[in-house]
Amino acid sequence: VIPGPNYGKDDKVLVSIRIRPTTAHAAWDHNVPRTIKLFPQYAKSTASTPPEFHFDEVLTGSENRPVYNAVARSHVCAAMDGYNSVIFAYGQTASGKTFTLSGNEEQPGIIPRAMKDVFAYIRRTPTREYLLRCSYLEIYNETIYDLLAPPSISAAQPVQIQGMGILVPLREEVVTSLKSVKEVLERGERNRRTASTDWNERSSRSHSVFRLVVESRERGEGGSATPSGRQTPGARPPTPGGPRLQTIGGRSVQTSVLSLIDLAGSEKATSDKERTREGKYINTSLLTLGSVIGTLAENASKNKNDHVPYRNSKLTRLLQPSLSGDARISVICTINPDTNAVAESTSTLLFAQRIK
Ligand code: ADP
Ligand code: MG
Repeated sequence: VIPGPNYGKDDKVLVSIRIRPTTAHAAWDHNVPRTIKLFPQYAKSTASTPPEFHFDEVLTGSENRPVYNAVARSHVCAAMDGYNSVIFAYGQTASGKTFTLSGNEEQPGIIPRAMKDVFAYIRRTPTREYLLRCSYLEIYNETIYDLLAPPSISAAQPVQIQGMGILVPLREEVVTSLKSVKEVLERGERNRRTASTDWNERSSRSHSVFRLVVESRERGEGGSATPSGRQTPGARPPTPGGPRLQTIGGRSVQTSVLSLIDLAGSEKATSDKERTREGKYINTSLLTLGSVIGTLAENASKNKNDHVPYRNSKLTRLLQPSLSGDARISVICTINPDTNAVAESTSTLLFAQRIK
């Protein structure tokens, strides 16, 4: 696994690999090495040199800060600048998706770090006023549950997608501080646990989607609107494909969405019990995600206009407005280096290679 040429600022999709430390508590046959070199195809092929996979970043270790800086920070800034941004964690169960996105007290993950940066950005930008709204969703068996609604309500009335990714009914909470975001996240987590009869099963078989809608406009003097059409020094002209601008009360409102997504485990169904509806749905939706991102990356790099199969899964339908256009995408593929995970690690590397 070789880090690729540095990710260009304007690249559509950043694809990175994060290799977690080996699972210390695994029961090991002492003859089996604890870790493997990730040259998976080589073992089975007759090629004289191992195949190489190239990615934008290859990260190791247990520190979440360098991961945030390398693969999330610029996407969070882009969202504040008016671009839709989506960050995914993809990988088999226990490979470190949730550790990477949410982290823990000592090692906060991408979500808490992103929110900290969002509020810092707002403090640094006194010329604009911001409105932040969050929502928190779970997609399980191709049904979308609103994690901010009480479980009985979200189960009875799942979220529907209308038109281009408009979600109804959806609770959006206005957040004004890190503390209020934390409360919203904790409520969502509680509801997610309450809703599941088998937490491990459901959490590894569902996608969780945390969304932050960022709305901003220039501060008008004394509350009066800035005359529309007047350009302020340094303001970005409303270019086609640029930040989404809408004029309300004479002042243009810029809206973007930052989506942070902890995907369902990418592992293949291993038992009959697992080869159920859920397993099938997950494979379909991860497969669809792969073709959607792969097509977007290819369209962007080769200036093509191939059909993007958003409609083939709830996840991609929900994300359609956030992925299309000039959206920025980061996919962090998490890998467990243990020998017994080699098949899944290979399949994760192939997924990562396909979307690059
Ligand atoms: P997933 O969400 O992919 O199922 P988790 O993030 O829950 O996996 O990780 C499984 C376990 O491994 C957790 O206890 C987590 O804290 C730990 N872990 C994952 N990645 C790392 C890492 N890079 N460094 C240290 N511990 C990690
Ligand atoms: Mg997890």
